[in-house]
Parts: sequence; C-alpha cells; structure tokens
Amino acid sequence: MFTLSYLFKPWRDPKAIADGPSILAYIRETAAEFGIDRHVRYNTKVVAADFSTAESRWTLTLAHRGQGRHTTLTCRFLYSCAGYYDYDQGHSPEFPGIAGFAGTVVHPQFWPEDLGYAGKKVVVIGSGATAVTLVPAMAGTAAHVTMLQRSPAWIGAVPAWDAPAGTLRKLLPPDLAYKLARAKNITFTMAFYQYCRHHPARAASAPSPLREPDRHGRPGPRAPARQVRSAAGAGPQERRPGR
Ligand SMILES: Cc1cc2nc3c(=O)[nH]c(=O)nc-3n(C[C@H](O)[C@H](O)[C@H](O)COP(=O)(O)OP(=O)(O)OC[C@H]3O[C@@H](n4cnc5c(N)ncnc54)[C@H](O)[C@@H]3O)c2cc1C
Repeated sequence: MFTLSYLFKPWRDPKAIADGPSILAYIRETAAEFGIDRHVRYNTKVVAADFSTAESRWTLTLAHRGQGRHTTLTCRFLYSCAGYYDYDQGHSPEFPGIAGFAGTVVHPQFWPEDLGYAGKKVVVIGSGATAVTLVPAMAGTAAHVTMLQRSPAWIGAVPAWDAPAGTLRKLLPPDLAYKLARAKNITFTMAFYQYCRHHPARAASAPSPLREPDRHGRPGPRAPARQVRSAAGAGPQERRPGR
C-alpha cells in the first residue's frame, strides 16, 4: 500500500498488504477529503458513445440505475477507463464433465452472498489476481483450499506487516516515514526485478529472506532457508503471454 496509495494521501495503516474493506475505507476517505466524490456520478452507466465528425464531439448516453431513464452528455475528449471485465458475463471456460460434479461451482464475479464454505474442501481454478485474493481469504474458514493452475506464476510469501516501515513510523514524523517506506519498497521491487532478469536460475532457487506468514498473513517466526518456486515448477525465464 505504500506504493499503491496516493502520494497526496499517505497510507498510515500499519498493514502494508491490506484487505478490501481497509482499501475501500481509504479510497472513500480520500474522495471525501479532497472533494473528488462530488465529481463522480454514481449508479450511472454509459450505454452508448457516438462521435459526430461534423461537430467534432462525443455524445454519451447514460442509463441511471433504478430510474429507467436515459440522459445524454457531450464532450470533446473521451477517456474510457471501463476496465477489462465483461460485467455481464465473466470468462467461463468449458470444463468437460462439470455437469456431473456434485459439489458447488461458483464464479467469483457472481459470488453468492450466502455461500457457505466453512469446513469444506475447495479448489480454486487459476492463479491470477482473483485466485491470489481468494485463496488466503478462504483458507482460514475452509477445511482445505487447493489452487489449481494451468500456467506457472511466481509468488513470494511476504508479511502483511512491513516491519522496517513500522520502525520508521516509530522514529520519524509520519510523512517522512511514509516517504522512506515507499522509497524502500520501490527500490526493493526494482532491484528484485533486475535480479530475476539477470539471474533467473539463482532467483528461482534462492532461499527466501522473508518470514513465513501465519494463516492470517501476519509474520510468523523466521523460517529456515527454503525454495520459492511455482507450483508447476517452471523457471522464471519461461515467457508466457498475458500477465
Ligand atoms: C480480485 C482482484 C485482485 C486484484 N489485486 C490486485 C493487486 O493486488 N494489485 C494490482 O495492482 N492489481 C490488482 N488487481 C488488478 C486491478 O484491480 C486491475 O488491473 C485494475 O483495477 C484495473 O483498473 P482500471 O481502472 O483499468 O479498471 P477497473 O478498476 O475495472 O475500473 C473500471 C470502472 O469502470 C466502470 N465501468 C465499466 N463500464 C462502465 C460503463 N459502461 N459505464 C460506467 N462505468 C463503467 C466500472 O464500474 C469500474 O468502476 C486485482 C484484480 C482483481 C479482480
């Protein structure tokens, strides 16, 4: 969060890898504090964008949730920041035999509010952002969570609490501590990236300098040197399309 938070609104929570509710609270507080929320039209969906060459102008058609009415808006510059999801239909690959599966199948995009998985054995298909978010969140409640991945991804277990940042916060004024923690994390990320690029084999087998987190993401006792590798065991030099 030290690198993802806004420079003009330092992240002050001691948890460096934060959960959804904390991030949402931070974004809401920032939007309210800086008056950004007054410029956001909530519950409004752009359903059409038409460009007029003669007028050199866009006309947007807006649908207002729950109101059954449409309005229009014009502009000369249009930035589409609509993300990469299909909100109506998430990616659902065909899994042969799924019809005969007796358990519950859930697509995270349409997560049932009342889904009960306490004490159940769960398989999460995929190893992207959604899976990485789901697995630790479910691990505390489910009997067992298995991540099933097609393409290898590389993941380092890092503590949710950034100990050096915590020390800086105790010793220095909050803004200076935040700037130093941010600079430390940016430098570490850049250096680690370069290390992986230049020494992929060594990076793959290097003992993790990090401490094993407990099941709640808190740093546990210092772990003995161990291998950090992907579940599929492929090297970091392997290139694959996408993220
Ligand atoms: C579970 C999960 C965990 C992730 N974790 C991380 C992480 O830890 N770190 C990281 O860097 N990235 C993470 N990502 C990826 C990151 O969230 C996305 O890359 C990022 O949000 C994309 O930003 P964006 O602004 O392009 O789109 P989005 O964040 O998807 O924003 C698009 C916005 O446009 C709105 N919109 C869409 N269509 C319309 C329309 N027709 N009219 C009006 N509004 C519309 C949507 O409602 C939404 O608010 C994660 C993703 C997921 C799903």
